[in-house]
Amino acid sequence: MTMANGRNGAHDPERIENLSLSLPPVTGGRVVSGFELARLEDLDVIEDYGPSYVDAFEQTEVITGDVEQFNRIRKAIFELLDAFNVNWDDPNYTETPDRVAKAYLQFWANGYARSAEDEVTLFPNSSGSNDLVVVKDMQFYSLCSHHLAPFKGYGAVAYIADQHLLGLSKLGRILDIYARRFQLQERIGAQVSDKLMELLRPRGVMTVLYDVEHLCMSSRGVKLHEATTSTVAARGVFRESAELRAEALRLIQAKP
Ligand SMILES: [Zn+2]
Repeated sequence: MTMANGRNGAHDPERIENLSLSLPPVTGGRVVSGFELARLEDLDVIEDYGPSYVDAFEQTEVITGDVEQFNRIRKAIFELLDAFNVNWDDPNYTETPDRVAKAYLQFWANGYARSAEDEVTLFPNSSGSNDLVVVKDMQFYSLCSHHLAPFKGYGAVAYIADQHLLGLSKLGRILDIYARRFQLQERIGAQVSDKLMELLRPRGVMTVLYDVEHLCMSSRGVKLHEATTSTVAARGVFRESAELRAEALRLIQAKP
């Protein structure tokens, strides 16, 4: 079993729910983790909410999405700020509708313009391997569809191959495609698992989203700021076997 964990963050795997596990490790299990810092750079993921988004905007002129969509978003942001009677002579506001519209299309909601089919390549499972593969600690960012507030956390995908294999970095890419929309945490996990079942046709897949902080909750204060949420979307053999689910969760929970 090889493990690598490049993440320096302090997430506590013990917060994952339903982890009363005492099973011995499955031999042949393979854990690959911690690639997110390098790989997610390829995906234009910005690590923090804050000045870095502004910096990223300043560095690029690229607008994804069509012009009509950009203009509609820009107009909506203008109306939002105007409803607060902001001072449009203040240079801090004058370009804000443009900046925000670009940020939605380039980062926060860029998943609508992407499809897993376009970004994923399958390989034949020529060795016939059906080991349990787990990729974990993939950091994701999303926006809740109830409040349009950011939420962020970590994702792990476990799968057991059948006829096809998938490049491991592609699991993070699929997670990113579904996270970067207006979303519900549990729907992201379900969509990732369902899309992998459709594309890869594995024996089973399980997507776990853990240590997820929802700003719509934490920003309201009152002890909720400590709360994180975990969800599991199991398909195929993972849905049928509690033992397999438990083993995958044990590997996701394991520290390097
Ligand atoms: Zn919310």
